[in-house]
Amino acid sequence: MIIKSLSIRNFRNIASADFIFDPKVNIFTGNNAQGKTNLCEAISVCFGKSFRNPRTGELLPFGSSDKEIAVEMCFTFDNLPDKENTIIYIQKNSSFDLKFNGIGMKDAEELYGALRYVLFIPEDLYIVKGDPEKRRNYIDFVSNMINRVHNIKLYEYNKALRQKNNILINMSGYDRNAALMLESWNETLAKLGVNVMCGRIRYFDMLAAGAKSYYSMLNSNNEILDVKYESSVMKDISFTAEDHIKMYETYIERLRESAERELRMKYTVVGAHRDDVSFYINNMPAKDFGSQGQIRSIAVALKLAEAEMITEKSADVPIVILDDVLSELDEYRRGFIINHIDKFQIFITSCNLSDTEKFDSGKIWNVKGGKFELRQ
Ligand code: ATP
Ligand code: MG
Repeated sequence: MIIKSLSIRNFRNIASADFIFDPKVNIFTGNNAQGKTNLCEAISVCFGKSFRNPRTGELLPFGSSDKEIAVEMCFTFDNLPDKENTIIYIQKNSSFDLKFNGIGMKDAEELYGALRYVLFIPEDLYIVKGDPEKRRNYIDFVSNMINRVHNIKLYEYNKALRQKNNILINMSGYDRNAALMLESWNETLAKLGVNVMCGRIRYFDMLAAGAKSYYSMLNSNNEILDVKYESSVMKDISFTAEDHIKMYETYIERLRESAERELRMKYTVVGAHRDDVSFYINNMPAKDFGSQGQIRSIAVALKLAEAEMITEKSADVPIVILDDVLSELDEYRRGFIINHIDKFQIFITSCNLSDTEKFDSGKIWNVKGGKFELRQ
């Protein structure tokens, strides 16, 4: 898709702004706290949901809660480039209304997913350097984006896991009935856990290969990125998403092996909920040895790989929003991002005007106090 234009009224610190976008690259520069992320967020509400998860009324301008927020986005789908579509988001007090080509969306989630955008925000660095949970959440998010049943599988798995853990918590000493129940929960967990793992790894290779390729472009092939799914169940055994039986049998075996530890720890110590993803740069773990620029480059490469995956799996090319992506990157990497990502329409924010010195083509706005001025 291509966003042609956007109009914003009374959205956080943006009183009024109108944009006609470039089909390729759009850059917004300005000092801290001027409205760059607010603009990205205004785009995201047109996709059905703010990525900041604001509390009720938080989007209304400070001190004028009686005003009406209006964001209007005109865009085209790739298969019908001449037909303009409109999404209008209107919020008055705490209630909001979202219309797609004049038709009200009962559930904003309907829109979220039908229209796709890929977002990088600085918090995404934690996908690389944060806890394993962040990486699992990201892989689950990507898996669910491609296959909407993934979250249902995950929900069922987590429910079963909670029930088994409750038995472990309430057990004191040997209890024959509880032991039999644990055995039965292990079978359920192995079955559901294999489902979750298969859902994750089915598209993982595609994401990993895309990230590897973007990473090498970002640093002109000097460094090699490897991305690996680390299964707490399969450990060093190689497996694919088709190896259900092998995975199930190994899963059960691992759960039995860890029975004693589970009783001591009072939770399930192996399974899909303990899996992780590792990033290696030239064979060294990036989490431990990666520089700030390298970690940021991995996060950006992942997001661009995500956009490639959506392009491949859906009929439409997603737009890409990169908020505050350029800081900590050297001139080569910045140049690649602003001049060489040509498969998607991109929106980039930056605090640093000099980031855009080598900008070849596209549009640049400067923002001050919520007012946007077109520079190029
Ligand atoms: P940075 O470079 O630091 O990320 P930014 O340009 O992205 O800065 P924004 O996050 O867009 O900054 O925020 C701009 C300003 O908007 C901030 O000063 C923030 O306090 C203000 N702001 C946030 N919510 C509201 C609101 N509801 N009404 C008015 N102003 C708001
Ligand atoms: Mg910001």
